[in-house]
Amino acid sequence: MIKTIAHLGLGTMGSGMAANLLKTGYKLTVWNRNAEKCEPFARKGARVSDTPADAVRDVDLVMYSLSNDQAVEDVVFGSKGILSGIKEGQIAMDMSTVLPATSLREQEAYAKRGVDFLDAPVFGSKQESANAKLWIMAAGNQAVFETVKPVLEHLGQTVHYFGKNGNAAAMKLVGNLIVALELEALAEGLVLAQKAGLDLNTVMEVVKVADFRSPLLMSNGKNILKRDFSPSFALKLMLKDAGLIEKFDNSLQSPIPALRVVEKNLASAVALGFGDENASALIKALEKAGGVEVKARRVRRSTETEQND
Ligand code: NAP
Repeated sequence: MIKTIAHLGLGTMGSGMAANLLKTGYKLTVWNRNAEKCEPFARKGARVSDTPADAVRDVDLVMYSLSNDQAVEDVVFGSKGILSGIKEGQIAMDMSTVLPATSLREQEAYAKRGVDFLDAPVFGSKQESANAKLWIMAAGNQAVFETVKPVLEHLGQTVHYFGKNGNAAAMKLVGNLIVALELEALAEGLVLAQKAGLDLNTVMEVVKVADFRSPLLMSNGKNILKRDFSPSFALKLMLKDAGLIEKFDNSLQSPIPALRVVEKNLASAVALGFGDENASALIKALEKAGGVEVKARRVRRSTETEQND
């Protein structure tokens, strides 16, 4: 049974997960590159470590949520990294969105030290992480998965097992291909609606009820109309994931023509300076090309807002 956990990476996703681990009552150690982000956790009773190698000492489970493959390279394989501190019998779990090949490399390196490894990326964003409502996928040895599953159930609303290592990382890329295309569809649709002079609040009311509705379209559409691009999932991370999907596809040669178009638009929006904004800021590249800004014209009455939120 898992009782002690080290959580490394306290960004948008990691901070929500670490907070929920503390709330659940796990004995928690935290590490983050920028140490300031550890302070709120120290105040709530977490042990704070100076290095990944120190953080993983004597815990049952080591988990991390880091930006990208390079961050995993640094934190796992780097000097004073996890691999230099972790010992036989411990379990490591990578919750970042990375290439399946990176997950396999991690698994091999851990196996050499007698450490079990799961790739366990997530769907959901800032709110879902904070509210323990993530949708989690995990892959690796099934007995190890069963040991870790109770921890995952404290972080998410669903947990799916995907078999051998790398498969959960692959599923995450499949999902993010769909997310990227949904965001592009929303952005193109809203720019077209704006240019056609449609009432955008009414457009979103239809998007909310029609047979193509989705929570992702609703939450992003609502925020675009308010011009709220505060990051839940940063545009630069969506661009990173588009790059991962392309790399992953190199060996598979599955047709991804639409993804290539979205990747170009994501890169344009990042080049315009919006990389730290939410991924929905993808629309700003299309707005520039279309010469419009998508914005709700009328202010909604509070009762109307309640009904439609
Ligand atoms: P984030 O807010 O940007 O946080 C990234 C974390 O990685 C921070 O703790 C950061 O440390 C750390 N980091 C980055 N580069 C590093 C390096 N070279 N060495 C050590 N630490 C490094 O990102 P996030 O939104 O939490 O995302 C984390 C992962 O989850 C990503 O793989 C992302 O694609 C995935 N994901 C995100 C969402 C979402 O909606 N946000 C949803 C699903 C999956 P500092 O604080 O020191 O910068």
